[in-house]
Amino acid sequence: MIRATTFAGKSVAVFGLGGSGTVAVQSLLAGGATVAAWDDNAAGRATAAKAGLPIVDLTSADWSQFEILVLAPGVPLTHPEPHWTVSKAKAAGVEIVGDIEIFARERAANAPEAPFIAITGTNGKSTTTALVGHILRHAGYDVQMGGNIGVAILQLESPAAKRFHVVEMSSFQIDLTPTLNPTVGVLLNVTPDHLDRHGTIENYAAVKEHLINGATVATVGVDDAHCVDILKRRVEERGAAVAFSAKHKLAPGYSMLDTEIVCANREGLAVKLGNLAGISTLRGGHNAQNALAAVSAVREALSVLGLPTDLDWQGALSTFGGLAHRMEEVGNLGSILFINDSKATNADSTEKALLAFPRDCYWILGGKPKDGGIQTLAPYFSGVAKAYLIGEASNEFAASLDGKVVYERCGTLDMAVAAASRDASASTSAQPVVLLSPACASYDQFKNFEVRGDAFRALVAAIPGISMRGRA
Ligand code: ADP
Repeated sequence: MIRATTFAGKSVAVFGLGGSGTVAVQSLLAGGATVAAWDDNAAGRATAAKAGLPIVDLTSADWSQFEILVLAPGVPLTHPEPHWTVSKAKAAGVEIVGDIEIFARERAANAPEAPFIAITGTNGKSTTTALVGHILRHAGYDVQMGGNIGVAILQLESPAAKRFHVVEMSSFQIDLTPTLNPTVGVLLNVTPDHLDRHGTIENYAAVKEHLINGATVATVGVDDAHCVDILKRRVEERGAAVAFSAKHKLAPGYSMLDTEIVCANREGLAVKLGNLAGISTLRGGHNAQNALAAVSAVREALSVLGLPTDLDWQGALSTFGGLAHRMEEVGNLGSILFINDSKATNADSTEKALLAFPRDCYWILGGKPKDGGIQTLAPYFSGVAKAYLIGEASNEFAASLDGKVVYERCGTLDMAVAAASRDASASTSAQPVVLLSPACASYDQFKNFEVRGDAFRALVAAIPGISMRGRA
């Protein structure tokens, strides 16, 4: 655990006692702060009290005693409206930060040169973060990976020379990290998302831009208009930035030469940095963007730190285990491939899977539908051999598929897996694919997308003769 020594002697309010909030309280206490911890949820408070956390009722507390409020990233700062703790803090002139700000201050005070790669974007954050961590570990470095990807940042080891902190950041976390100054800041892409929390796309893009503003080196994906503007501003203000694109050839910059990752200089001279062909964990154009982001981030970080950049890029890329629930190969039955893409909770995500598996696809979809349903996926219907509908979305999706794709109403996932594997087994095609890519939230039948994906994996594992892949 990282001790929050820069908060020693300070009086700190902590609101939101989930995983990261609880660790923040422990880190602050270990660093010598006085802490008042609170949560709106009584059960959460009771658990925290049992764990020995100092619970103080912040609804009736005198806020003038606090110097800082540490807020959990899920708590609204501005939109749809500020949480009551935010209003109280502002009224009392109390600074509001998140746990990554505590890390940033600790690093600034004790190990300012410690390698720190921060990654954000609307899509692909977790995949890129995991791949950056994997490439660095493959090269033998000590990697501390966390943030939005799972482990709370303050639970990691303290920043130190040659120890890389690889941190995924949501826009909510960036909003709460005013002194964010990574060695390398990675911005993958910006598309409308979470506007309920950020008001407008301009606000949202500005929050994302903050991550690269403080970075020593910025690497930016230039495949959308917002990121192109952000890169331009960075170049105007700081003279340089690194660009990557999965769609266009860049010189200078990182781009794809067919399936090869290359980095070109201004004259167009390029070095090859690994070929994605045949790497099943990095299928699809979206993963080309993620791989470019990861390779550029690692290479630029090593370069600015004066460390060798001639890594075994190919070896690292080919051994990437991928992330669960994102186009994850779970097993095969002879030539039939079973893919768990449970993380695809909307049509945009499912589009990536239908692009990656463009033919002989036995597609399981449905759940709790989102606005717009699957209308935008119509261009890919021709590659679907048959669709299997589950959950609340069944009627709506049946209407979208009617006359275009043969479908079966299965109701539940177990029925869908049985029907899809039966039909795929009867197929004469070279590699039929049974794909769970629901284009829906899971809440009607499962606690979350992870539970849905695990249920799929368990159902596939029970198929006689199946050969399963382990999890990375
Ligand atoms: P995040 O952490 O930003 O949610 P993930 O890496 O977990 O992203 O990927 C989640 C889903 O988002 C994937 O299953 C895929 O459908 C989609 N996705 C991943 N990377 C990209 C990308 N670079 N561009 C667009 N969509 C992507």
